[in-house]
Amino acid sequence: MTDDGINAFLVEKGTLGFESRVIKNKLSLRASSTAELTLTDVTISDGARLPNANGLKAALRCLDDARFGIAWGACGAARACLDTVLRYTQSRELFGRPLNQTQLVQARLADSVRKLAGAQLIAWRLAKLKETGVATSAQTSLAKWNNVRAALDIARDCRDMLGAAGITLDHSPMRHMLNLETVITYEGTESIHELIVGRELTGQSAF
Ligand SMILES: Cc1cc2nc3c(=O)[nH]c(=O)nc-3n(C[C@H](O)[C@H](O)[C@H](O)COP(=O)(O)OP(=O)(O)OC[C@H]3O[C@@H](n4cnc5c(N)ncnc54)[C@H](O)[C@@H]3O)c2cc1C
Repeated sequence: MTDDGINAFLVEKGTLGFESRVIKNKLSLRASSTAELTLTDVTISDGARLPNANGLKAALRCLDDARFGIAWGACGAARACLDTVLRYTQSRELFGRPLNQTQLVQARLADSVRKLAGAQLIAWRLAKLKETGVATSAQTSLAKWNNVRAALDIARDCRDMLGAAGITLDHSPMRHMLNLETVITYEGTESIHELIVGRELTGQSAF
């Protein structure tokens, strides 16, 4: 916050008062490093100010774009899980027949496809709204929340349909499931997106 309102600044590594602490022992998004950044009485020059990034709107626009990307990425993770489990249940034989011939397995596969198709349609519709510049933050929240929740549920169910084999690194669903635990937390937690959608519906802010 500055005298001109909210502004964005670049802070170079090595600036006095800036610290970066790597967070170790993660069970999710292990392929990328995550750090806690702290800024204590940091002094920077006016030249570090980012142009045209005034007000909260600039930050929120950045979040909306990231959340839009996540809405699609979640569909990709869910598709990968389904693809794995479709192949697995075809080749896995139990009591003389392929696993994919059992009614409950087919019902679970169908339910996952229902969730995925809904998520893909929401992401596609949001893309169309963005193309014409009319997409709102609340619509983006709905897409991020719905699609990550759908992908997480699909990944969990696919992991289960792989039986014990599903907990190994031989199959991707559990890896996707664990990574999606981060995705449902960052870029706005599930609860916060629910509250954003709730505010849009009621006109009342509960947070
Ligand atoms: C791997 C990883 C990478 C990340 N990368 C980044 C990054 O690049 N940049 C960045 O800025 N952040 C990043 N984050 C941080 C992430 O955005 C936050 O962890 C997230 O916003 C939740 O904040 P918090 O952890 O402080 O939880 P808290 O805010 O403490 O929330 C804890 C719980 O309480 C709930 N809660 C909080 N407030 C309310 C309320 N008013 N009403 C109801 N429920 C509420 C939350 O939904 C959550 O379930 C990353 C996180 C992870 C795991």
